[in-house]
Amino acid sequence: ATTLDTAWAVRWMRDTAQVVSENRALLIDLDRAIGDADHGENLDRGFGAVLSKLDDGTPETPAAVLKLVAMTLMSTVGGAAGPLYGTAFLRAATSLGDATAVEPSGVAGMIAAARDGIVARGKAEVGDKTMVDAWTPAAEAAQTAALAGATAPEVLAAAANAAHAGAVATEPLIARKGRASYLGERSAGHQDPGAVSTALILQAAAEAAG
Ligand code: ADP
Ligand code: MG
Ligand code: MG
Repeated sequence: ATTLDTAWAVRWMRDTAQVVSENRALLIDLDRAIGDADHGENLDRGFGAVLSKLDDGTPETPAAVLKLVAMTLMSTVGGAAGPLYGTAFLRAATSLGDATAVEPSGVAGMIAAARDGIVARGKAEVGDKTMVDAWTPAAEAAQTAALAGATAPEVLAAAANAAHAGAVATEPLIARKGRASYLGERSAGHQDPGAVSTALILQAAAEAAG
């Protein structure tokens, strides 16, 4: 199986930039339905900036890649998602320490740390129709897979599948946090843009490992 080393972290971020760019219009449309139509633009700008930073030189460890991503997203994405994803990647980086390869339990710990950072920052609970509804099942699935003896790429795949299911399951929910909560019951009937972008980011992590 692929080792989750620094090259993997760089591939993850390059793949994320590409998938976010490809899904820019989808994320804008989802945010138009229950927000202000800028989520796709915000993330495309942020991960585009990440690409330029990675072109300047490769950091030495997976954590250093994620820390660079955190700093870049915090300074370029704006809105609600910028600080939330910035915190997620910063906590993920911290959880990895100076390891040069991420083990299965490390993958699970990284996703849990990202999820906990988002909750600490945004105070959303599961069911509030936010990105937490994708990160939480992803963290749980990753931990279950790691405990069952899955390889690191398999742990990522389990997390990505759970995030996707979590994002789809936000559709009937009524938003209780963020801009979408202003719509009350009218927020039902659309998937949450941040939950959908979370699923894309974790899918890219799994594909970069496969
Ligand atoms: P803004 O709402 O400022 O325009 P974005 O459109 O970029 O920011 O991001 C919106 C996404 O941010 C939502 O779809 C939701 O997933 C996420 N979000 C908003 N508020 C919170 C929160 N308090 N906790 C977790 N996620 C949140
Ligand atoms: Mg928005
Ligand atoms: Mg906005």
